[in-house]
Amino acid sequence: MSGLLPQCPRCGAPYKGLRVKRVSGRDYIYAYHGRQDGRQVLCYVGPVGGYQHAEALLSLGLTNLDELNLIAVAYNAAALYAVRMRRRGEAAEAAERLRRLAEDIALLARDLSTRSLDEEERGEEDGAG
Ligand SMILES: [Zn+2]
Repeated sequence: MSGLLPQCPRCGAPYKGLRVKRVSGRDYIYAYHGRQDGRQVLCYVGPVGGYQHAEALLSLGLTNLDELNLIAVAYNAAALYAVRMRRRGEAAEAAERLRRLAEDIALLARDLSTRSLDEEERGEEDGAG
């Protein structure tokens, strides 16, 4: 099971994304788990703007920070941001900001890869010397 997928605050299973459904003029967030028998498997999370549920999605309720899945927190923050901005009618701006964020994250990943190679080379030099 991928550790990259965020955890559903309702059932604890990993979910693939967030969905917003409009019921009686109000928007509600659901965690989308995929499809089963042709139907979407969704868990109700809470109303859009409900900070308690947002907190649960961000996995910030945990007391042990070492156990915090920071990748899941980052993903959930981005997903909630997308939901909120779409609701405000600012989807295009949100998309651009998320693309820039993704580029910054890619730079972090590249830096990690580069440093790992450097450390390997240094290790070899130490071994030789
Ligand atoms: Zn769930």
